Amino acid sequence: MNILLLGSGGREHALAWKMSQSHHCDQLFIAPGNAGTTQYGTNLPIGVTDFAAIKEACITHHINMLVVGPEEPLVKGIYDFFQADEQLQKITVVAPSAAAAQLEGSKAFSKKFMQRHQIPTAAYAEFTADNFEEGKKYIAAHSLPVVLKADGLAAGKGVVIAETHEQAQEVFASMILDKQFGEASSKVVIESFLRGIEVSVFVLTDGIDYQLIGHAKDYKRIGEGDTGLNTGGMGCVSPVPFMDEVFMQKVESRIIRPTVDGLKKEGLIYHGFIFFGLMNCDGEPYVIEYNCRMGDPETEVVMPRLQTDLVALFAAMDNGTLIDTNIAFDERSCCTVMAVSGGYPGDYQKNIRIEGLAHAGDNKNTFVFHAGTRQLDTTVVTNGGRVLAVSAFGNNITEAVNLSKKTLAGISFDGMYYRKDIGYEFA
Ligand code: ATP
Repeated sequence: MNILLLGSGGREHALAWKMSQSHHCDQLFIAPGNAGTTQYGTNLPIGVTDFAAIKEACITHHINMLVVGPEEPLVKGIYDFFQADEQLQKITVVAPSAAAAQLEGSKAFSKKFMQRHQIPTAAYAEFTADNFEEGKKYIAAHSLPVVLKADGLAAGKGVVIAETHEQAQEVFASMILDKQFGEASSKVVIESFLRGIEVSVFVLTDGIDYQLIGHAKDYKRIGEGDTGLNTGGMGCVSPVPFMDEVFMQKVESRIIRPTVDGLKKEGLIYHGFIFFGLMNCDGEPYVIEYNCRMGDPETEVVMPRLQTDLVALFAAMDNGTLIDTNIAFDERSCCTVMAVSGGYPGDYQKNIRIEGLAHAGDNKNTFVFHAGTRQLDTTVVTNGGRVLAVSAFGNNITEAVNLSKKTLAGISFDGMYYRKDIGYEFA
């Protein structure tokens, strides 16, 4: 079949790499893709929310399956757009409906959903300009730290963990009154701080059943030792040592099963990935957030470990046989280390020539996934803050991370930076 994949990051490179290995995949198109995805298919210069151009590409290239990488087209209703169009209805769409994508698109929606289905999460309240004064009182009486979240999508910047009441009041006012994140912060969720270790679990669901496809721990801060500003993710490891059977059993019975059952009960159509952002608080799992897509850079460790044919899994999701599929994993440790542009997550330059890529992926235990890159004539140049995700296998996390770092040592671009301590607590 012919497949169209939307997105342009390391996640999409990893998905393209994985799908291209399937004998079900005839032609792969990536819109817009990056310099790395061209190894597995044809990049199309189309934006991920340009639904009219996506439709045209589907017709022109006889697309049978649409796989959506990032959240924006999901929240904007790409699934519903395909269902409503006679020419597109037959295409298998790996995505939730817009109504179900509210699990990611609105933090207030997801908190209410968890409350309705008794899914463990931090205690919270939500406020708008209409009950702003009440919100101020709620903050004043809240224990510290207190977590403030813009309701809508804010490119990962809409969450503030305030250490003082003054800071919390300032953030609250700037979100609601100054509309710091526009419409996204016209509503604010205020919740209790959960102390623990974060981990992400990924499932593929057909809205009735689900399959676990992997888990990972990511490293969000720019600096070593988890210091400095938050980023889109500086690296990841999988599997995570504390994700034993007992913990996973709790995650499945208290969180994943009630979520999938809740979606079904509420008539929320869901055919795609669910990303459970969890906090392990002394062995008890709580939901921090839902995402309606795979994570980046988590995909860059989840896909190498997944031995099952991903396209066959998508087809099974579509024809109601997902539950009968066998999922197999590479049991070795996998990590990814992200190389970023100098200055990231602040301002950075683009179009810097990347050296050393030609033989970087020569070792069969290493994968060089492109994120912010672009082909410029015969060279590859930087095109974003996060530039390359270098994944590697090892017999343990230390071995995997050392192999990633060894591979990165052979790659260079002006200003290149990466954390050398990914997985440090498991070394
Ligand atoms: P992203 O897009 O980066 O995944 P987001 O903007 O959707 O994030 P959340 O994932 O809800 O927002 O929060 C971002 C980060 O803030 C979390 O990964 C976690 O580290 C921290 N965080 C959020 N809520 C809590 C909480 N209740 N207790 C402790 N930490 C929290």
